[in-house]
Amino acid sequence: MATGLKLMRAVRVFEFGGPEVLKLQSDVAVPIPKSHQVLIKVHACGVNPVETYIRSGTYSRKPLLPYTPGSDVAGVVEAVGDNVSAFKKGDRVFTNNTISGGYAEYALAADHTVYMLPEKLDFKQGAAIGIPYFTAYRALLHSARVKAGESVLVHGASGGVGIAACQIARAYGLKVLGTAGTEEGQKIVLQNGAHEVFNHREVNYIDKIKKSVGEKGVDVIIEMLANVNLSNDLKLLSYGGRVMIVGSRGPIEINPRDTMANETSIIGVAVLSSTKVGKEEEFQQFAAGLQAGMEIGWLKPVIGSQYPLEKVAQAHENIIHGSGAAGKMILLL
Ligand code: NAP
Repeated sequence: MATGLKLMRAVRVFEFGGPEVLKLQSDVAVPIPKSHQVLIKVHACGVNPVETYIRSGTYSRKPLLPYTPGSDVAGVVEAVGDNVSAFKKGDRVFTNNTISGGYAEYALAADHTVYMLPEKLDFKQGAAIGIPYFTAYRALLHSARVKAGESVLVHGASGGVGIAACQIARAYGLKVLGTAGTEEGQKIVLQNGAHEVFNHREVNYIDKIKKSVGEKGVDVIIEMLANVNLSNDLKLLSYGGRVMIVGSRGPIEINPRDTMANETSIIGVAVLSSTKVGKEEEFQQFAAGLQAGMEIGWLKPVIGSQYPLEKVAQAHENIIHGSGAAGKMILLL
């Protein structure tokens, strides 16, 4: 590495593959912010399941190799490029879309994707906001267009997106049902906005949900594992109900007839649609709603398992094959 450059620790991926392709290096050049860019000294970085799909090389979106994974960091502004007026060195911030990768001591982000982190949230919580809360907000308010008084089932409520969805749905006046796979997960779901919780590992849990929602059914389902649940979801919906596909890890057979009597909708969700040209103001809208949640206090990320950067491969293994989520998975720098 050339001398004169400031160096940092960062995870680099040189080839697609299993968690072992995540290599921690200590001689990676600290990026220099260009116009409209902010350099963040990273304190914590959220681990999202999509980062494992991308790393494996099987995802539709493939970065150029080598690359540093990670989009959601929280930390302190180290430097700003030209034409940045909203931030200065020393500000506490978070982002949902790093340019240079978040599994690193420093990360670059475009200034319009950086937000101030209120004092009442710590850096771990800041790193848990990005993809999870923007996804949950998009799914509920932008795409499902939920109304106060409707009911929502957060199918997979104990992880990053699920807890965010429970908090947002409760704050916006919905009746909130959640599911989790462990007792600890169920407890956290109830503490974060759900009126009722069910265990998706129990054989008869769908019957219990049916009993709870009655003849009318549930208005909206936020679905984290559609390849397992979509067929059942269609049988739980109310007239005009919609199931939002947030997560899916494979195919599933459904009976299209199950959508007919109740005129229900199956709607895909892709949080990064908001980064497409002409759609940038969507993130600003979601950010305004979420900022209000931070100020008022209903937006309070729950941190689950935490790993030092050295254990990044273990983190990737566990987010897919772990025993159960109990909040958002975080890497600590
Ligand atoms: P996470 O923190 O790892 O949480 C995974 C969640 O799925 C946990 O609540 C887990 O519950 C639950 N789950 C496990 N088995 C389930 C089942 N049979 N039925 C329902 N839920 C089940 O992951 P995340 O960050 O919340 O992301 C959730 C999914 O959404 C992932 O597939 C991710 O790739 C996807 N996602 C999509 C977008 C998008 O833009 N479309 C954005 C963000 C995330 P237990 O662990 O308690 O069993």
